[in-house]
Amino acid sequence: MAFVARTTGKGIRVVTLQGDEQGKAPFFAQPVGFDGRSFWVARDHGCDTEKLLHEACHWLVAPKSRRTLQNYGLGPNPTRRVVGEEEADNEEVTTMLLERLLAPRFALPLSRLAKPDYNVYRKTNIDWEACEVRAATLFEALPG
Ligand SMILES: [Zn+2]
Repeated sequence: MAFVARTTGKGIRVVTLQGDEQGKAPFFAQPVGFDGRSFWVARDHGCDTEKLLHEACHWLVAPKSRRTLQNYGLGPNPTRRVVGEEEADNEEVTTMLLERLLAPRFALPLSRLAKPDYNVYRKTNIDWEACEVRAATLFEALPG
């Protein structure tokens, strides 16, 4: 939480999902999200460190112009998605790769992280080399 607050300047809200809330903005199928101002982490049985780190990485990867949009304008709600599927997929994979680089700082075993392309529209959209370069560049720019 300290890393996220220091790095992004954004707040963190722990929320409890009730009824059919999981499936509505900003979560859809995910127990985590970003409403344009705060990161939301749902109280469930998942790893809160992983969820929060994933969202902070999304924020770092997103261009400044999309850091005030719900889930950085990536969707999954198509009415809230402002980029194409290919751009969204490459941003998701870059986020996952940055998360892998940062995970050891938070004692998160890599074996517990999802595959970088688990949550994309189409795997053929992904430019792995470009995503790796982008993630490494962002990682190196972060304070130690
Ligand atoms: Zn994501």
